[in-house]
Amino acid sequence: MPAILIDGRAVAKDWKEKAAVRAQEWVLKGITPHLAVVLVGEDAASQVYVRNKENACRKAAIRSTVIRLAADCTQQALEQTVRELNADASVHGILVQLPLPKHLDESRVLALIDPDKDVDGFHAMNSGRLMNGQRGFVPCTPLGVMKLLEAYNISVQGKHAVVIGRSNIVGKPMAMLLLGANATVTICHSRTQDLPAITCQADILVAAVGKAGFVTADMVKPGAAVIDVGINRTENGLAGDVAPEVADVAGWLTPVPGGVGQMTIAMLLSNTLDAVQMHGI
Ligand code: NAP
Repeated sequence: MPAILIDGRAVAKDWKEKAAVRAQEWVLKGITPHLAVVLVGEDAASQVYVRNKENACRKAAIRSTVIRLAADCTQQALEQTVRELNADASVHGILVQLPLPKHLDESRVLALIDPDKDVDGFHAMNSGRLMNGQRGFVPCTPLGVMKLLEAYNISVQGKHAVVIGRSNIVGKPMAMLLLGANATVTICHSRTQDLPAITCQADILVAAVGKAGFVTADMVKPGAAVIDVGINRTENGLAGDVAPEVADVAGWLTPVPGGVGQMTIAMLLSNTLDAVQMHGI
């Protein structure tokens, strides 16, 4: 039987509607939720992502301000922008669109963001909170994956979850969230030996590699929930990290597009409203 396709669009729509209701409640109390996005340079994909974030904010009645800095802006100018946003009481959430141009020090910029406005959840304080099981901002993409699993009643507790990828943005926080939900978690990466032997044991398999069609059917346990985080631009359009034939083996599968990607922005709205709550009371 082919896998159940997890409809990220539908789940994200519900979350966006919830965000719109929450935002409206704040507006009625005289507080306009406000997300500030810092975009450096002209990277085409980043421009699209930022435009999508602006559109989603507009639909949810969340104010968004995009601060555009030239590709050759200095570290000092970028840091000054972040400091000003930290100090601006009207701004609840701050996001610096990644990747930054090579001459800029990404980790120094992320470390400057007020952890209580860090709606992307990339500040070390928030990674630490996630690690310690404390409340904090959680990176939007792995948080979205957890919400998809919940929406489809895919149980995590006691299951073996395998995450391929160990980035700070996806792989590591994903593993922490699954661990927090009582899965037994294995993290794989480019130096992992005999990857298929490990992935074949996964009840839940998350692919966050960045290589189109990387996970093939022979790497998947029959009936597993396969979550495809990858977004790869190929000559045939967007492709995930999971090969299409995995649908014949898996129990559940997230499509690309229409899966995890849809949830990322929905979680950004949700995190922004959590930030308002943190500041507004
Ligand atoms: P990344 O920083 O490049 O990390 C990729 C990870 O894959 C690394 O940990 C790397 O291992 C591992 N890897 C590479 N080749 C491998 C191999 N042959 N075997 C096993 N592991 C291997 O990428 P990322 O930022 O985590 O993103 C991953 C993918 O998700 C990308 O396609 C990205 O576009 C997509 N993404 C999607 C969303 C969304 O909204 N859906 C959001 C963010 C990212 P090492 O650490 O050993 O190098």
